[in-house]
Order: sequence, then structure tokens, then C-alpha cells
Amino acid sequence: MRVEGTETVRRILCVFPRYTSSFGTFEHAYPLTDGVQAFMPPQGLLLIAAYLPANWPVRFIDENIRAATTEDFEWAEAVFVSGMHIQRQQMNDICRRAHAFDLPVAIGGPSVSACPDYYPSFDYLHVGELGDATNELIARLARDPSRPPRQVVLKTVDRVAMTDFPIPAYELAEVKKYFLGSIQYSSGCPYQCEFCDIPGLYGRNPRLKSPEQILAELDKLRECGVTGSVYFVDDNFIGNRKAALDLLPHLVEWQKRTGYVMRLACEATLNIAKRPEILEKMREAFFVTVFCGIETPDPDALKAMHKDHNMMVPILEGVRTINSYGMEVVSGIIMGLDTDKPETADALLAFVDESQIPLLTINLLQALPKTPLWDRLAREGRLLDDDDSRDSNVAFLLPYDQVVSSWRKCMEVAYQPEKLYARYQYQCDYTYAQRLKVPVTPEQKSWANIRRGLIMLRNIFWKVGVLGDYKKVFWKFALGRLRRGDFEGLIASSMIGHHLIMFARAASGGQQNASNYSIRLREASVPAE
Ligand code: SF4
Repeated sequence: MRVEGTETVRRILCVFPRYTSSFGTFEHAYPLTDGVQAFMPPQGLLLIAAYLPANWPVRFIDENIRAATTEDFEWAEAVFVSGMHIQRQQMNDICRRAHAFDLPVAIGGPSVSACPDYYPSFDYLHVGELGDATNELIARLARDPSRPPRQVVLKTVDRVAMTDFPIPAYELAEVKKYFLGSIQYSSGCPYQCEFCDIPGLYGRNPRLKSPEQILAELDKLRECGVTGSVYFVDDNFIGNRKAALDLLPHLVEWQKRTGYVMRLACEATLNIAKRPEILEKMREAFFVTVFCGIETPDPDALKAMHKDHNMMVPILEGVRTINSYGMEVVSGIIMGLDTDKPETADALLAFVDESQIPLLTINLLQALPKTPLWDRLAREGRLLDDDDSRDSNVAFLLPYDQVVSSWRKCMEVAYQPEKLYARYQYQCDYTYAQRLKVPVTPEQKSWANIRRGLIMLRNIFWKVGVLGDYKKVFWKFALGRLRRGDFEGLIASSMIGHHLIMFARAASGGQQNASNYSIRLREASVPAE
């Protein structure tokens, strides 16, 4: 559904800010691909673009692909920006550049919704989700496209039902330049983990689109050229288990009809391992990866952060169960918890070995506004100002240097090429072997797809197998894959593995932040005009 009844025409420039180099955006993998330049198409900004009046021309620019130019700003009558806390400085920079052209700039999305005071220069703050604030913003711009004399804050009270969401304007994004396609089925999560801002921002009762909307979005993504992997960005895919069960048969049917053109991935709580009926359907729908916020293998720590639901099955058993349905587990891990001890790093590394999880995003604890953690630390006087000398705003109970050096040690050891490739080998033998054997479609046999695969193989063989400094480990793995004719497994593991190895080296050498939210090292990443 689009907003209606606006006859005035306004040209809107939607600008998505650059990400800072991060563990989870895979930029070291991009040079091994056939031209990928960014991580995932941003759902929020593309949704707003699709919601704007049909007669309003919209330009979408992802600054991870190219910076907005003078010509873009001269074309526009208003600029929309959206992003997460990690992109705060880049968002403020876009605002500054747009103001140089005297354009009104509006910001929406998760960061401004949690922390409006991070964005004092913007003309319009859109706080909350798509709803009456969005309609008011559009009406104000229709009436008057000049900059308001002072900042206007618009807060959504009545949200648009997700069943009325239009399909995000994927056609405006250069989807082929993204590492993954993205899609959203639900918003919100019923749990209340202490550090997480999702329940505070989006509620505990997940809101949902209809299965028909999801299929229409998948069709559109496919029309726009997405092949390969599509990530459900839902906060928790099983936040409403019944809804997941309602959707899955539709996904299975869509995959069968289209020849399993997409590999699917999602985020879900680890207690999904207790739901074989969901896991079986996910396997049939060709879900191949599940991101689980395991956070820590320490039961006391899980209890303290109110993540007891991770203990509904023993963690390692849960991981094995998910693997047995052909799905690789990706895990979030947090260090710097109050329950951490001097031996936490060793316990974590033992867990990495035992779980055989190849990809774990290991971050230092950061307190986000609108979380119970933030409130508790504020009460305890342990919230520190963000500054460039630290990678976290939390006063840890252990000395800061000890926590950071534990984190560096974990990054260094967990991502040694031998260890990482051994975990990938395990996944090939025990997880990927359980996946559905899907037919080779005409699309996959097409010359364009074969050419794409050949380009990636050439890049991998040259940049990792010839020029790389861990080539012996790589070839041992690669030859095994080649003997089995598993080109897809070889390409996927080598690309992601290369990113993890390169990023972890920079991290353990002190050249990367220990937290995805830290502002340290961010200055240099603001794009030049
Ligand atoms: S389960 Fe995940 S999304 Fe839900 S509150 Fe916990 S961390 Fe947040």
C-alpha cells in the first residue's frame, strides 16, 4: 500500500550510509566475487521509497556502492536517510552534505528511533516505524519543501499493519551488487535479553506480513536479479512459532515451483532445536544457515542476561540438532559480561572447537539505549561516554585491557586458517551432507551463471590459492571439494573464510574495533564527497 492523495510532486533522494568495516559485512570477500560491493539491500529505506506517493520520483543511493553526487543533491527536493547506530557518523555526514544544497533532510530507522538526540542537525526526525509519522512527513514536504526553521520530531503512534506494507522498492537498488538478498516477514521478539533493544523498539508481540506478501517479494527479488542467498532479517524467525509454521509450506511450494533458486537464511533463538516440525520444514524450504545468538556457553552468564531460553536444550546438542537438518549455525558471542572470568577466553575457544561453528561474531558488550542493560548500568554508574579511547561504553568488572586482550586472543586463535578450515570440513561432512538435494535449474545452467561461478573460482584460486599466505590449508580443503564436484561449497566457504581470516588478523593486531557499536576508528570511514 502506498500513501495516497498527494498531488504535489517532490523528488526524494534516499541515501543509505556506508558501513564501517565490520566482521559481519564480509567486505574482504567482495574482491573474490564477480562485483559485489555491499552487504544487503536496506529494507527500511527501500520500504519508505515504495510507500511514497506513486507520482514522486525517487532515487536510491547506497553509499557502500557509490557516494551521492552533486548532481544527485541538485536533482533532489528532499533527502531521506536511515541506518543503525554503527552508521551514526556517516548519517550525520550525509545531512551536512545535503544541507550544503539547502535541502531538508529526514532521518528514520532504528538508530534515530532509539536515540533522537544523536541527530541534532537533521530537519525531520522520524521516530518509530512506518505509520502516521510517515504520512505527516510526506504531507509536510508536499506542502513546503524548504527546510523548517527548527527540527521537527514526528513520532509514529499508529503503525501501518505489516500486511499493508508495500513490497520494498528493490528495483531501485542494484541488487546484483549485494552479497545477500534481504527480506522481512516479522518484526519484534517475545524475549527480553538484557542487552537487546529489539523488544523495546519493535515490541514483544511479533507483527507479521502474510505468506502471500513474502512470495510476492521473493518473486520481485528474483525479477530484479537476485540469485543465491536471501536472508530473513526478522529479529527472531520463530518469535511467533505458529506464524513460522504457517509461512514455511508456502516457501517450500515456492522453492519447488522455481527450482530452489534461493538459499535461505534467518536469525532464530537456539530453542528452535526443540522444534523438529519447524526444522524439517526449513530443510524442505532450503534454509541453509541459521544465525543464533548463543552469546556465551556459560549457563550463569545466560541466566544473568535473561537468556535462559538458550538453555532449553544443552547448547552443543542444540547446534548439532540444527546441523542435522542441513543448516549451518552462525553464532553471536559477547565478551565483557559481568560473569566473565580470567579463564573465559579459553572456555570460549574450547566451545568454538567443540561446536564446530565456523562463523562466530565475537563482540565486546556494548550498552544500547532503550535496553534493561543500559538502565542497570546507569543505576550502577557503569555507563561511560562513547569516546575514541575505548571499544565499549561499559565499565567492565574485569580490567578493560584484560577484556580486550581476551577478545584479541579469541579472534586470533579461532580464525587461524587451519582451525577455521577444519570447522568448514566438519560442516561439509556432517551438515551440508544433510541438505536437500535440489535439482539443477535452467537458470543455474545458464551461461551467465556459469560465467559468474568461473569468475569467482578464478578470483579465489588466484588471490587465495596462489597469492594467499595460507594456501596449503586452502588447497587441502579445495581439492577435497573439487574431487566431490562441490563447487558451490568451495566458493561459499572460501569466500567467507577469507573474510574471517583477514578480519580476525586485523582485529588481533588492534586494527579493528572489538565492538560492532564502538565509535573508535570510525572517523576515517566517513566517505569523502
Ligand atoms: S532473543 Fe534475540 S531478538 Fe529476542 S530479545 Fe533476545 S537477543 Fe533480542
